[in-house]
Amino acid sequence: MKPHAHIASVVLAALLVSRAPAFAGEIYVAPGGSDAGPGTAAKPFATVERAQVAERAMRKANAGKPVTAAAIKQHLPPPPMQPKAAAPLPPPPAEVLDGTGWPVPTQLIPLWKRMDEVQEMLTILSRVKGALRSAQDQKDLLFAEVNYSSALSQLDQAWVDIKTAKPFAVCPACQGQVADRCTLCKGRGLLSEHRWNTCVTREDKEFRFKAKAARTGAGGPSPQETKN
Ligand SMILES: [Zn+2]
Repeated sequence: MKPHAHIASVVLAALLVSRAPAFAGEIYVAPGGSDAGPGTAAKPFATVERAQVAERAMRKANAGKPVTAAAIKQHLPPPPMQPKAAAPLPPPPAEVLDGTGWPVPTQLIPLWKRMDEVQEMLTILSRVKGALRSAQDQKDLLFAEVNYSSALSQLDQAWVDIKTAKPFAVCPACQGQVADRCTLCKGRGLLSEHRWNTCVTREDKEFRFKAKAARTGAGGPSPQETKN
């Protein structure tokens, strides 16, 4: 050990003894040491300030207990952090595209996302239909008075009607921008698949398909394929 280090350690050991008579360990400080190290004779600290921090931590952790090297190491404050590379920015929110590949305007996205509510209702209707069919197949006595064909066809109709609540496309008449005055989308800015198929002109559909092809760099389905 260098003479300087020895002097420093003696000074510090005296300091520690005067502050904490019960303290049995030693903390070493030496020129050329490292404050990120353990402060042992082999790997001394570089500054007295760092040694004092370690001493305080050690005393706090070992009040009344004999000090072991492992305990000292364990209670030392962590070495100073290296500046981290800047965290990558989160990716921008993915664009929401409608059933024709057209971007849904931001103000319509909350409405667009509520299609799940409609889907839930449709799922319930399908379940009721399944239960009725099974009652019919098994000639379930409980349902003896039920007119199955009437009930099933009404359920089918309800399913078709409720499905029109499910948005499919941004309205090609108002583009969802001035929906309140739009008769095609009834002020919703969005159309159901049924309305898209039956009420949108061929020109409007072709415009969408061309736009989609331009966006994706590939041809989408032809307009004929989406017709009922
Ligand atoms: Zn519209």
